[in-house]
Amino acid sequence: MQSWPVPEVPSVAGTPVPLHLFDTADQVVKPVDTSGERVGMYVCGITPYDSTHLGHAATYLTFDLVYRQLLANGHDVHYVQNITDVDDPLFERAERDGVDWRELGTSQIDLFRSDMEVLSVLPPQDYVGAMEAVDEIVVMVQKLLDSGAAYELDHGDIYAPITATEQFGYESNLDRETMLSYFAERGGDPDREGKRDPLDALLWRGHREGEPAWESPFGPGRPGWHVECSAIATNRLGEHFAIQGGGNDLAFPHHEFSAAHAEAANNVARMAGHYVHTGMIALDGVKMSKSLGNLVFVHKLSGEGYDPSAIRLAVFGGHYRADRDFSYEALNAAQERLASWRERLQREVAREDVEEGVDKLRKALANDLDTPAALEVIDKAQGDHDGILAAAIDGLLGVRI
Ligand SMILES: [Zn+2]
Repeated sequence: MQSWPVPEVPSVAGTPVPLHLFDTADQVVKPVDTSGERVGMYVCGITPYDSTHLGHAATYLTFDLVYRQLLANGHDVHYVQNITDVDDPLFERAERDGVDWRELGTSQIDLFRSDMEVLSVLPPQDYVGAMEAVDEIVVMVQKLLDSGAAYELDHGDIYAPITATEQFGYESNLDRETMLSYFAERGGDPDREGKRDPLDALLWRGHREGEPAWESPFGPGRPGWHVECSAIATNRLGEHFAIQGGGNDLAFPHHEFSAAHAEAANNVARMAGHYVHTGMIALDGVKMSKSLGNLVFVHKLSGEGYDPSAIRLAVFGGHYRADRDFSYEALNAAQERLASWRERLQREVAREDVEEGVDKLRKALANDLDTPAALEVIDKAQGDHDGILAAAIDGLLGVRI
């Protein structure tokens, strides 16, 4: 699928600082593996049934920062993102609103792309819809069936047992009770009759009346959510790649099972070197959610005249891993902060002072994307020299001076 235009990224002065990120699996901040020719990054994309709100955008802004630090360090990045354009929430919303689910999906994907473009988010090189990937998902499900890492139930449904890999559970580090509650809350079907374990995950849903279906050697149906990402990621980035990312509500079950399916199919111990998760965004202290109707939309903010760079700054005011608050107050404060930077950086100061600032900026961001510290570094800058600092702020943070 077509992604969106690539924003201009100025080159950044100073010495590269190896990027360190917190890994949910190992529970430590550790260096990102950049030893390969390209650094592979997979970030779970949207399910296009409700246009992208600031909570979603904050996640993609986080991985945009990851991408920018790697670029500034001279690495080539292979970024892959999916779109879950076949899934229950999409069908339910389309039915509720009396529209075709394909049309709903297309219009929401268009909105998402334009929001990402407005925010100068670097696009993935491979932007892949589940519908485009059905053939490769079928291949992976077949592989799992052949190796005994999947079993069939009635209605043509196929499940993956949690015993398919020895390491199941390593990614999220949760106890069984917590797994069971998240599984029930986040799209799982613990009560499905006939499953060997309530946690076993759906790989393929056999065709039901009124639902779209694709042909496969194991009967018509449609792919499960987790295996969609396993196939799309590993077919493009290899069996093992550097970073798997998404919101912290994806750590379980989605990322645990995406990893487990890929590891069972490819016979490897670990799919990604890092599992990176972003916090949730609240509006004035209340978690942003569709059901509460308190979503803030990026296109609405930019329509109201907010500078996209200020929207980025408002999001970067808190650390990406923290569940954090968004408010118009914070956005207005970010707008003022940006105006003061723009004014101060007009002044010419000594090159060495500016270079020291760029190094501090690089160090703060290389330390698990410590954006609050990075913004403080810029707050202290007295001026710029030949636009070196402005280029670094744009290159590393995507904020235009
Ligand atoms: Zn995913």
